[in-house]
Amino acid sequence: MNTADRPNLKIDSDRLWSSLMELARIGGTEKGGVCRISLTDLDKQGRDLFVRWAKEAGATIKVDKLGNVFARREGRDPAKPPVMTGSHLDTQPTGGKFDGAYGVMAGLEVLRVLNDSGYVTEAPVEVAVWTNEEGCRFAPAMTASGVFGGAFELDYALSRQDPEGVTFGEALRAIGYDGREEVGGRPVGAFFEAHIEQGPILEREKKTIGVVTGAQGQRWYEISWTGMESHAGTTPMEGRRDALVGAAELIVAARRIGNRPNGRSTVGVINSLPQSRNTIPGRVFMTLDFRHPDNDELTRMDAEMRADAADIARRHRLEVKIEEIWYFPPSPFAKELVAAVRRGAEQAGYPHMDIVSGAGHDACYVSRVAPTAMIFVPCKDGISHNEIEDATRDDVGAGCQVLLQAMVERADA
Ligand SMILES: [Zn+2]
Repeated sequence: MNTADRPNLKIDSDRLWSSLMELARIGGTEKGGVCRISLTDLDKQGRDLFVRWAKEAGATIKVDKLGNVFARREGRDPAKPPVMTGSHLDTQPTGGKFDGAYGVMAGLEVLRVLNDSGYVTEAPVEVAVWTNEEGCRFAPAMTASGVFGGAFELDYALSRQDPEGVTFGEALRAIGYDGREEVGGRPVGAFFEAHIEQGPILEREKKTIGVVTGAQGQRWYEISWTGMESHAGTTPMEGRRDALVGAAELIVAARRIGNRPNGRSTVGVINSLPQSRNTIPGRVFMTLDFRHPDNDELTRMDAEMRADAADIARRHRLEVKIEEIWYFPPSPFAKELVAAVRRGAEQAGYPHMDIVSGAGHDACYVSRVAPTAMIFVPCKDGISHNEIEDATRDDVGAGCQVLLQAMVERADA
């Protein structure tokens, strides 16, 4: 079927909005946010609501061994790999109404539009709910999509423990979402995730749709400096081995290294010892978070930082130990899917721009096993992971319309 034969499918932004608001009542906070922590009873209630709505829209439900839920609407050719969308229903403790929930409810709205219109796509259409995206109860984040994408083993995910010592597997059984399906290996023809931007760029540029070309790579470091504690009054300035001065110089260097197009550099933790105002600090622990969408640039940032650290250590007669504790390679998205998103925005007449995702998303791991793209919509003042997280009815509707068009285009391709 070509575009001309396709009915003029339109999403219902009021229905999408009211579903989002109804879902947000599950775990709703006084300040207007949502606290729906992964694999709690509230998470179960959110999932149950989605499952009920998806069944009402004619979908069948499958749950895998990590509690990932797949709501499927059959295509004309059931043998074709499905065109999938989805996101997560868990939130941060001070989460908002849109992070994750938007991508799931937008997928539900696509199912509802197809169901209401009786339109049958060639390939099946599926909506996924990925378990434990946020990682605030069970680290690491994006656990279940990570197993689906081959980044972690199933047993590793099931054995993750929360601060009370409850395992992921135990919590999953307790809410009854320990399904039978194997994790991964499920063919996916294309994966789209709609999400709020969680940053200020679309709002600032007055664009409704962010055509996400990929996600940043990340390198996380733990850095220890060792010098020598000595008396603040009797030790002359020359010859001091002040570990905190070394750390301070590296903070400034890291800031300079991050200051390149699309670069990000953050020192978030710094602890100096012995925490005495009249003793020269002999030991410092600090963290460093580097991000860039281009792996070559990320590698250069790593090399520059290591060279600077070695130089600083030599000048101040310090020892420096740099440990890379996490590496998440950049996830460039599939060109043909990114183009489908852009086309969807153009056809619907929404102002749009290409954008790189600054955060990790389930789509990043899915992109390792299936062609993937994302759609961003603006969020107020770029604020997320906060109870005041907000977006407009028009913008979330626009993102959903683009999602519908891109999914139908791929499903009929
Ligand atoms: Zn999210």
